[in-house]
Amino acid sequence: MTPGTINNCPHCGKLFLKSVRDICPDCYKEIEAEYQQCYKFMRKKESRSCTIMELSEATRVSISQITRFILEGRLQIMDHPNLSYACKSCGASIRTGVMCENCRKEFSKQLTQLSEDEERKAAQKDGQGASHLYRVEKEL
Ligand SMILES: [Zn+2]
Ligand SMILES: [Zn+2]
Repeated sequence: MTPGTINNCPHCGKLFLKSVRDICPDCYKEIEAEYQQCYKFMRKKESRSCTIMELSEATRVSISQITRFILEGRLQIMDHPNLSYACKSCGASIRTGVMCENCRKEFSKQLTQLSEDEERKAAQKDGQGASHLYRVEKEL
């Protein structure tokens, strides 16, 4: 994408001049501030036993945003045994990846089917999307 194009911010919907970031400067600042809030709270000893709900309440950061921070690897939850987030697919509590074990199995089954279909159809678009998702999941 060429820098300097006018874009809608996916966060607030405002038009902004797109440069390095995908979101507008206001949202960027806001999200950074939210991240700092979470980070600071999680560094406290007494937060060790907190759940994602408690973290959200204490920081006033939405659960979905906290989940995003965790998935991005910005917030580490190893030291927080009660911190978990929802499986993207079924909502079960998980601590790694974007999906729970069951959904992952189901998903890879679908992926295999998909790639078999794809080979037959050689329709590129969906295949790329799926392999991208798969890659994301593996990294997490
Ligand atoms: Zn914005
Ligand atoms: Zn699931």
